[in-house]
Amino acid sequence: MSLFDLRGRVALVTGGNGGIGLGMARGMAQAGAALAIAGRNMKKSEAAAAELAKLDVKTAVLEVDVANEASCRKMIDDTVKRLGRLDILVNNAGINIRKVPNELALEEWKQVIDVNLTSAFICSHAVYPRMKEAGGGKIINIGSMLSIFGASFAPAYGASKGGVVQLTKSLAVAWAIDNIQVNAVLPGWIDTDLTKKAREEVSGLNAMVLMRTPARRWGKPEDHAGVAVFLASKASDFVTGTSIPVDGGYSVQV
Ligand code: NDP
Repeated sequence: MSLFDLRGRVALVTGGNGGIGLGMARGMAQAGAALAIAGRNMKKSEAAAAELAKLDVKTAVLEVDVANEASCRKMIDDTVKRLGRLDILVNNAGINIRKVPNELALEEWKQVIDVNLTSAFICSHAVYPRMKEAGGGKIINIGSMLSIFGASFAPAYGASKGGVVQLTKSLAVAWAIDNIQVNAVLPGWIDTDLTKKAREEVSGLNAMVLMRTPARRWGKPEDHAGVAVFLASKASDFVTGTSIPVDGGYSVQV
């Protein structure tokens, strides 16, 4: 069996119906994993699952609002009911509300923290007993360059993504003994629906990204396929608690 073979494994990707989540789902499906795609927009999720099913893997589509605890817990249960097990959890769903701190309302702060950070805790908490009982598992959390850097327009987003990195470390340390590896991926600037909106809202963003990224391009969702397969497979069985930038060199250049 290849180190990267995911046949017989089941992966759940929150926000897997587009962007980075779908890029990761495609990679894991190519490696043979069955995929549960979870999001609010069922039409988008159905389309993503139909595309993945062409790779000859089982799929399931689940409606979830990750800001809601009961909805998250049901999503984990339903994945197991529909696909028989759950080996890989990707906490990918995320939003941003782009405002400077002095203009951000408390409700907006809470919304971003709930979707980006608290959901990762809830879903990981819900999946833990199943992974422990199965003898192991993989959790992949999605951070950001704003896990490392600050931006005037992203106070809650940056706090949530910094929190994701620290949550990843705590889960990794606590659950290493159970053979559950927990890691984070830190995407650079990736061309998705999320950043299309950012390009409209933040003047000069496109030029800044191209100038500041050593690879001189925006990342693509498919740039995340390889790291997902690595972190989901046996190849990463002794890798835990780390955060891997997928950023064309953005985070290492002064
Ligand atoms: P997209 O907007 O394409 O994807 C976000 C996904 O999250 C959608 O599939 C959406 O599905 C889902 N989602 C949002 N809110 C909820 C919710 N309450 N419940 C369930 N699902 C939800 O953006 P990206 O692919 O860019 O973002 C994916 C992740 O990558 C996010 O965590 C983001 O912060 C992170 N990231 C992105 C970067 C980039 O440059 N694009 C850079 C760094 C990090 P639906 O609408 O169906 O609910």
